[in-house]
Amino acid sequence: MKPFGQNGRPPRPTKLPEVRGEKRPPSAVPPSARKPAIMQEPVLVLNATFEPINVTAVRRAMVLMIKGVAQAEEVNHTEVHSASRALPVPSVIRLLAYRHIPQQTRALSRKNILLRDRNTCQFCSRTLPASELTLDHVVPRSRGGRSSWENLVACCYRCNNSKGDRTPEEAGFALARRPRPFTLHTSRQLMRLIGNKDEKWRKYLFY
Ligand SMILES: [Zn+2]
Repeated sequence: MKPFGQNGRPPRPTKLPEVRGEKRPPSAVPPSARKPAIMQEPVLVLNATFEPINVTAVRRAMVLMIKGVAQAEEVNHTEVHSASRALPVPSVIRLLAYRHIPQQTRALSRKNILLRDRNTCQFCSRTLPASELTLDHVVPRSRGGRSSWENLVACCYRCNNSKGDRTPEEAGFALARRPRPFTLHTSRQLMRLIGNKDEKWRKYLFY
């Protein structure tokens, strides 16, 4: 798949709430907090207005807290200790300054298309590991189909082979869902999926 963009270059990937230009200095994370799996657990990121904007990992959430960019809204019981203080492990953080989130879509990439389609073949609805999925041009390229959010879907190799150079109608296939760009709306749906398990997230996500 060729990357696409206004000038033939892929659009810059937009990670929603990342703080632009911010490097994470290793010193910002307490040494005792470096190893455990808990540092990889998901943390919901809210805008200053309490609007959910992204999911990040505990480690990064704590960097944002230590830097004074965000504060914890919900914490887990566990604490990690640095030399000088004990820090609660956040489950939900909120940015202290409002961040404008452009309604622009994410970069068109294999990874993001699989994420949008939740690793599910859009023709046979089987959910598979990424290694067993390919991207299918709904309208084949040979028929003028473009590489776009609306024309690329996650597809298993079996369906991809049997569809060949035909349109879904010609092949007798139906799309599970109409393919759409990965927007903030898509992100919200994914946040809800992840947040379903965490009670502390729910009040921010299910409104
Ligand atoms: Zn399939």
